[in-house]
Amino acid sequence: MEHLIESFRQFIKQKGLKYTPEREEILREILAIEDHFDVETLYLLLKGKNSKISKASIYRTIPLLIEVGYIQEVYKQGGHSHYEVTLYKQPHLHFICMKCGQVREALDHRLNDLIKEFEAKSGYKFLTYHLEIFGLCPYCREVK
Ligand SMILES: [Zn+2]
Ligand SMILES: [Zn+2]
Repeated sequence: MEHLIESFRQFIKQKGLKYTPEREEILREILAIEDHFDVETLYLLLKGKNSKISKASIYRTIPLLIEVGYIQEVYKQGGHSHYEVTLYKQPHLHFICMKCGQVREALDHRLNDLIKEFEAKSGYKFLTYHLEIFGLCPYCREVK
């Protein structure tokens, strides 16, 4: 984890921004989360540890973590974004149930290949993407 903290520190400095203990605290907390998270969840986690971090500093830090490539915005639900740590994860789809809100992931290497292909062809450097499919989960399909 320490090398990730160090790379982030370098990245912040290169951008001419100030590296603050708050940013580091947010990063450490995020790296410990294994599931998807949103700003509210993160805020409550930090608050539970008696942290003084404000939601505003979380909102300011998240775009930097996306830019450095540590996290991605993975889907929107309830009108706000959910993120996940993507350092060790391949691109995957999210199936989102519109009724109960359950989120399932689907991994397939073909997806990864396809995205790489698009990236190469487009000349872009992809930083984040949404791979979300909305519908009804098997349970909600049954309940009428
Ligand atoms: Zn459902
Ligand atoms: Zn995911």
